[in-house]
Amino acid sequence: MLKTETAQRLYHEYAKDMPVIDYHCHLSPQQIADDVQFETLSEVWLYGDHYKWRAMRANGVPEDYITGNKSDWEKFQKWAETVPYTLRNPLYHWTHLELQRYFDITTILNGDTAKKIYDECTAKLQTPEYSVRNLLRKMNVKLVCTTDDPIDSLEHHQKIKDDGFEIPILPAFRPDNAMNVSSAEKFNSYVKKLEAVTGIAISSFDDFLYALQNRHDFFASMGCNVSDHGLEEIYADDFTGSEIDAIFNKVHGGKELNDTEQRKFKSAMLCHFAEWDWEKGWVQQFHLGALRNNNSRMMQTLGPDTGWDSIGDFSHSRSLAKFLDKLDSNNKLAKTIVYNLNPADNELMATMIGNFNDGSSAGKIQWGSAWWFLDQKDGMTKQINALSNMGLLSRFIGMLTDSRSFLSFPRHEYFRRILCDLFGDEIENGELPNDVAWVGKVIQDICFNNAKNYFNWQLEQKPAAAKKQTV
Ligand SMILES: [Zn+2]
Repeated sequence: MLKTETAQRLYHEYAKDMPVIDYHCHLSPQQIADDVQFETLSEVWLYGDHYKWRAMRANGVPEDYITGNKSDWEKFQKWAETVPYTLRNPLYHWTHLELQRYFDITTILNGDTAKKIYDECTAKLQTPEYSVRNLLRKMNVKLVCTTDDPIDSLEHHQKIKDDGFEIPILPAFRPDNAMNVSSAEKFNSYVKKLEAVTGIAISSFDDFLYALQNRHDFFASMGCNVSDHGLEEIYADDFTGSEIDAIFNKVHGGKELNDTEQRKFKSAMLCHFAEWDWEKGWVQQFHLGALRNNNSRMMQTLGPDTGWDSIGDFSHSRSLAKFLDKLDSNNKLAKTIVYNLNPADNELMATMIGNFNDGSSAGKIQWGSAWWFLDQKDGMTKQINALSNMGLLSRFIGMLTDSRSFLSFPRHEYFRRILCDLFGDEIENGELPNDVAWVGKVIQDICFNNAKNYFNWQLEQKPAAAKKQTV
């Protein structure tokens, strides 16, 4: 992927050894707290990886071998047989990069090599070097933000801290369930859990807000300074306080809300969350545009996040502008990262962020890294190019895994290679000056320094030392 000599220099001399900040992912804090070891390569690689599941389904593999009752080995064999058919899908590169970086295996995975690779990796996974904490150390990870519901006890984060684990594993406040009022029953069961965890009786919207704010405070006390929202779109409908009180009472009384009421409620909640984030100096993130759970038959069988989601075509520009403008007008706009899932919205996002940079800090409003279906060579290249053309790539806070797997950290390497290749091309064809030191510094900023400064995290940067901590 590093086509020019300059790209190779930029990657190997500047990007490669920069540590990793994974400021948004879905790793399990419990697995880190317990420092678990995986029994088999299937467990760490195939359980919960809906990217691989979709590829296997597309390749005609029956569900039994994907999420069903077949053994770990049988599932792995089917995955290995699928790999040669994933050419040009990022899974092909990711798979082999992960085999190399974690297991020192350079053999191509296919049906014939499956057994040897499975046995070798599974044996390595039994050794202490492959506990999840050591996997994070091995990848030179300096900080991780998980994704947590406000009602989560954060007990695992506490245990990780108490253990003195040197890599901060911080929670991120993701209150999607607190604003999801599409079902009165589900919403009220959430309210009950919120009452239980806070000890606050909730009988009005004010009580509800008070209890949530209590959790926001608690998350802050646990080191959290990032929120995240997974939404189809930003809701920025007009509402009044009395309307929201009435809407809350209606849904809390067990009655279903109509579309207008749901939108108003979500709009109100987003404003409150955004104000709390601003008050505490947090960074707020918005992942926009997924159309989820599209296969109702499979959704009923397997539940959410099992590979039945796609890119939606929601309309973002007006509501996003209105939302950010309202906060900015009230001088309550926190640092903000927006991510789009539809590549048709790339230029929209690249230009939207420029409306609300106010000179208070470099890159205050960020357009997040290419996400989910766009998290591949073409998607990342397009995001980097649009950001370069319409904003400042040099102030970009860069890559994150957004992953559920402890083996997905080479995605940072993948991103860095793409980034270095783009710069290498333009230096060699004369579009950029041959100032490798400066470009190298910009690359190091995008790899690590920008994120570290943006989130105000005090982290020591000693890539070599970090590697030696591996058992
Ligand atoms: Zn995510």
